[in-house]
Amino acid sequence: MSMRIGYGWDSHAFEAGLPLKIGGITIDHPEGLAGHSDGDVLLHAITDALLGALAVGDIGSFFPPGDPRWKNADSAIFLNLALEELQTAGYRIVNVDTTLVLAAPKIGPISGDMRQRVAELLDILPTAVGIKAKTPEGMGLNHVAQAHAVVLLEAIDDTDGISLLEAEIDDPKTVEKVVSELVGEGRGGGKSRRMVPLPEFDTEDIT
Ligand code: MG
Repeated sequence: MSMRIGYGWDSHAFEAGLPLKIGGITIDHPEGLAGHSDGDVLLHAITDALLGALAVGDIGSFFPPGDPRWKNADSAIFLNLALEELQTAGYRIVNVDTTLVLAAPKIGPISGDMRQRVAELLDILPTAVGIKAKTPEGMGLNHVAQAHAVVLLEAIDDTDGISLLEAEIDDPKTVEKVVSELVGEGRGGGKSRRMVPLPEFDTEDIT
């Protein structure tokens, strides 16, 4: 089984009056993270970890910060592109682990919601998502949020699907599902695992 590891890091400064989005959820806080997009530092780090695991570049090479199309963009769009790359390469996520570094707000009370949302966005189980948080003790970075992320990928093994097909051949619905998954994997690496719809515009032309 072929496996790959990826690492991503990002930081954004807090700015008064902006909505705060971290890990795909909106958090009640007097300041938000400034950025060309919605500033979701955690989703950016995870996106870079996925792209890094595939060695296909980084978030900036796919989404140049000066491009007006990504002004205030939902960072789930960036994550979706990384998931497309993942599927094209024929890999799936084993697990993701992350650490947020920020002075406020406290992440503990909302880490469950964040974990659930990140899992939904990645189409994996919440048990495969680690969300941890630290304060930037001694770093003098109380107005900055940083995020670190690591991902582990494994190659999609078509023989898994074939053995499932053989084992449950008497159930037509299962056969149909397995065949469509295998065909999907052959074309683009298991698109049937996707829960999050792709953005309507074509992201291929900005690489
Ligand atoms: Mg960023």
